[in-house]
Amino acid sequence: MIGALVGDILGSPFERRPVKREDVPLFGEGTRFTDDSLLTVAVAATLLSGRDTEERYAVFFREYGLRYPECGFGRSFRAWLRGEGIPGGSFGNGSAMRVSPVGYAFETLEDVLDGARRSAAPSHGHPEGIKGAQAVAAAVFLARKSVSRDGIASFLQERFGYDFSRPLSLVRQSYTFDATCPGSVPEALLAFLESTSFEDAVRKAISLGGDADTQACIAGAVAEAWYGGIPEEMVLRALSLLPEELLRVTVSFAVRFLPHWRGCPLFVALAGKKEAGNEMEQEGKTERLSPREFPGEERNA
Ligand SMILES: [Mg+2]
Repeated sequence: MIGALVGDILGSPFERRPVKREDVPLFGEGTRFTDDSLLTVAVAATLLSGRDTEERYAVFFREYGLRYPECGFGRSFRAWLRGEGIPGGSFGNGSAMRVSPVGYAFETLEDVLDGARRSAAPSHGHPEGIKGAQAVAAAVFLARKSVSRDGIASFLQERFGYDFSRPLSLVRQSYTFDATCPGSVPEALLAFLESTSFEDAVRKAISLGGDADTQACIAGAVAEAWYGGIPEEMVLRALSLLPEELLRVTVSFAVRFLPHWRGCPLFVALAGKKEAGNEMEQEGKTERLSPREFPGEERNA
């Protein structure tokens, strides 16, 4: 989930300046968090709120989205934020870029797939939109359960029909910008499957020359789960670009669901107290996260 944020931030300068190489400078001009990070945090906040229904996802997406309207939403998602429906449901890659927290919040693959569907449904109800979310959430889940890369690839191939038969070097040659799930999620997952490190996965995703922030976000999300972390210096630099309120939710999610960050001095410092992880776990308390009220629902449901 933190890999999604770091990937989005590292990929952000290349969304409008596509490159076809891996040795790009990182943290250059134009580096910022975009909609991919914002909505990943919104998914995390929904899960932390204790009830991840489709309706509640919709409330969180709108609340977060309307608070940061300039962070790079596509046209149809902006319309959805204003309350307009998307006929047939969207199959844009927005469902896939935001879903990684779901891969950590459940303990069976079937629960992950079902949770991913709920997170996609409000705005990305097209079968390909649901599929994109499920594929990324499943990849994160299988990676964190130490399933082999071949095992992850076979599952994605069999369940979703994704094609990983061509190497990334070949895919890259003819690849162009495509912000749909079927046209960008398999390539982003391929960047992870061929990677040798977290940074390498992100660089490979950027090198496709496509929807760079989103593809680096997806590759980064799976790579974090697979490699069991991200270089701390990189996390520190990237997360320093997040507004305080997004950082707070991120740290709460890490404390609760990302054991590989537990005890990491950076996160202890960000949590603002020495034993934040232990304290919060022992007390079983979840920070009150916006939206502040859910009409008709019990508090702490
Ligand atoms: Mg973006």
